[in-house]
Amino acid sequence: MRPYRPFDDSLYRFADPQPSYWEATAGEPVPGSGALGGEESCDVAVIGGGYTGLSAALHLARDYGVDVRVLEAGHIGWGASGRNGGFCAIGGAKLSLAAQVRRFGRAETRRFYQAQVEAVELVRALGRDEEIDFQAQGEGEVTVASRPDHLPDLVDRARVERELLGLDSRVMGREEFRERGYASPEQHGALLLKPTFGLHPLRFVQGLGRAAIRHGARLHPGSEVLSLTKDGGTHLLETAGGRLRARRLVIAGNGFMPEHLHAQLQGRVLPLQSNIVVTRPLTAGELAAQEWRNDCPTIDSRHLFFYYRVLPDRRLMLGGRGDMGGTADGAARTQDWMIRRLGQIWPAWADVEVTHRWRGLVCLTREQVPAIGRFPDDDSVYFGFGYHGNGVNTATWTGREIARWLAGTNSLMQATPDHLPAAVRGFSGRFPLPGFRHWFARAAMLPRRLADLID
Ligand SMILES: Cc1cc2nc3c(=O)[nH]c(=O)nc-3n(C[C@H](O)[C@H](O)[C@H](O)COP(=O)(O)OP(=O)(O)OC[C@H]3O[C@@H](n4cnc5c(N)ncnc54)[C@H](O)[C@@H]3O)c2cc1C
Repeated sequence: MRPYRPFDDSLYRFADPQPSYWEATAGEPVPGSGALGGEESCDVAVIGGGYTGLSAALHLARDYGVDVRVLEAGHIGWGASGRNGGFCAIGGAKLSLAAQVRRFGRAETRRFYQAQVEAVELVRALGRDEEIDFQAQGEGEVTVASRPDHLPDLVDRARVERELLGLDSRVMGREEFRERGYASPEQHGALLLKPTFGLHPLRFVQGLGRAAIRHGARLHPGSEVLSLTKDGGTHLLETAGGRLRARRLVIAGNGFMPEHLHAQLQGRVLPLQSNIVVTRPLTAGELAAQEWRNDCPTIDSRHLFFYYRVLPDRRLMLGGRGDMGGTADGAARTQDWMIRRLGQIWPAWADVEVTHRWRGLVCLTREQVPAIGRFPDDDSVYFGFGYHGNGVNTATWTGREIARWLAGTNSLMQATPDHLPAAVRGFSGRFPLPGFRHWFARAAMLPRRLADLID
């Protein structure tokens, strides 16, 4: 079977370096064990060297002494984990809060959001305990009302987040946010949600990789798994250069999900593009011209929102949606549009040079919540995916939860995944007519694009 790769080939060249600002500033790559070669064996094999796979490997090796290997098609952190906006934030779902309460109940919905808070703290703890210098920045995530009539919605949202979810959420009016945030024709007040902070995403994933190695895991970059079979009780993973036998398996491919490796994986994810542009460092005068004092990760209140931060070296990083074709030209057009919008949102920065631009894949599921579990027909295979553009904390937490589950000696834990919030438990459903899922997504996105255009 051929891999499911809905976008242009240019998004799937695992050997290509990424032209990101993070790649330019991450320092030395993780010293892996080299590509897999010959015949090897281990207890647990992990497919995918991003936050999910490396957090699983680190926790398995460090906390349970498990013999674990990670096979990564590119370099460590090649996927979304090395290219994202670095928002360590509360999110992970696209399903509306009202729909979550209807589907999972109030208590389980609150549990899911409290797990997100725990996941943010987990990232901080990993940074501290494993000495990962990921350049933490800011206290809280800001959602800015792009129009005056968006502010009342933020006021409602903050109340629900406090009362129903137990979160630290509050709203500031336009003037208050101007004093501590910034001024813009598209700033009409803001919501501040804690805890959230910004980090250097590639430094974080590389730090996870180094820590996993230090605790005994072996990492094999440049090792795309081309086939997966089962021989008695053993999984056999084949790459171009070698074969790995493993008793248990963790699938951690997210937006690059290798669906072709197993029938259970087919049709369950919807990868979508997200783009990022980064400017040269802004001068003190340019920052003052927009009254910029905000070091928090920030998004706006549009349906297809922009996300942005001024980085520690004073560059503006602006992220936004992607096109549906995936060609390099299509991405360049979307990025050009983002740069034009940058000049409208912050007029004083309209002519500031953009030095880096890149893109990657976020991963949605049919139920619009993450999916964590084991194959229904093979309890030696674990998976975690579908973080809806919010994986810095959620994927890291997922990797740890998989490790706990996989290594757990508690028989109740082995039999059921009740230790996970109901929202994330088990496989997401398959998309209907999976070969056409991107066409459905395009249609589903249209009303949101129109609403933003009308706004
Ligand atoms: C542009 C962009 C901005 C984002 N911004 C944010 C943000 O600010 N905050 C946030 O929380 N989240 C953000 N996200 C989402 C976040 O990056 C992801 O949710 C997270 O990185 C997922 O981690 P992962 O380990 O599951 O997947 P990935 O990091 O994508 O790793 C999967 C890996 O699997 C590998 N792989 C696939 N098939 C095979 C195979 N057959 N053999 C071997 N290896 C294979 C791939 O090479 C890839 O490296 C963003 C994503 C993008 C693309």
